[in-house]
Amino acid sequence: MNIDQGKIPQATAKRLPLYYRFLENLQASGKHRVSSTELSEAVKVDSATIRRDFSYFGALGKKGYGYNVNYLLSFFRKTLDQDEITKVTLIGVGNLGTAFLHYNFSKNNSTKIDMAFDVQEDKVGTEVGNVPIHHLDDLEKILDPDVTVAILTVPSSVAQKVADRLVDCGIKGILNFTPARLSVPKNVRVHHIDLSVELQSLIYFLKHYPM
Ligand code: ATP
Repeated sequence: MNIDQGKIPQATAKRLPLYYRFLENLQASGKHRVSSTELSEAVKVDSATIRRDFSYFGALGKKGYGYNVNYLLSFFRKTLDQDEITKVTLIGVGNLGTAFLHYNFSKNNSTKIDMAFDVQEDKVGTEVGNVPIHHLDDLEKILDPDVTVAILTVPSSVAQKVADRLVDCGIKGILNFTPARLSVPKNVRVHHIDLSVELQSLIYFLKHYPM
């Protein structure tokens, strides 16, 4: 089936990786169907939203049967480009950056951190989690043009400067783990993950909206 991806609302698109991961685990455990209630409990999205999300790509659950896991997975694979590996670079091999390089999204074989950059001489020329670390001075020279996404784990004081250079290199998406708010051109997407803000927000919700 051909789906016009422009028609999938952004909020739905954002939930796809969540669904995808859960369905992959279901398939691995030999399950072939799943109800929206079951999915809802697992991914913490209400079942009406799940039904609406799935209706965008023609997956209509059957009453008493639920959804076909294999069908959904093959659809998600295409939509999320799971068949293609997206190459990612990481800038700033500190504590957080090092953790990402070791993790390297090995459970999700659709993304791979290909190369990393830092400015500390003792890190340059080494490898962390099999990923080579280069000097940031060489960014423009050696960044693989196939790399379109960057993870930013540098100190926030240099985040904007580094982001500007990444944009000039043709990077289209930045996952920003620094507290800095980045300015980028309209054709570049930044997703900001500020861990301390997320933690504070969680604590706030626990306090004010107990379940
Ligand atoms: P974190 O836990 O946030 O990763 P850290 O305390 O280990 O941090 P930071 O001072 O936040 O270290 O720096 C993160 C990494 O970014 C370090 O390895 C540092 O050498 C590197 N770094 C600093 N400035 C730059 C820069 N301009 N470009 C690339 N890397 C940089």
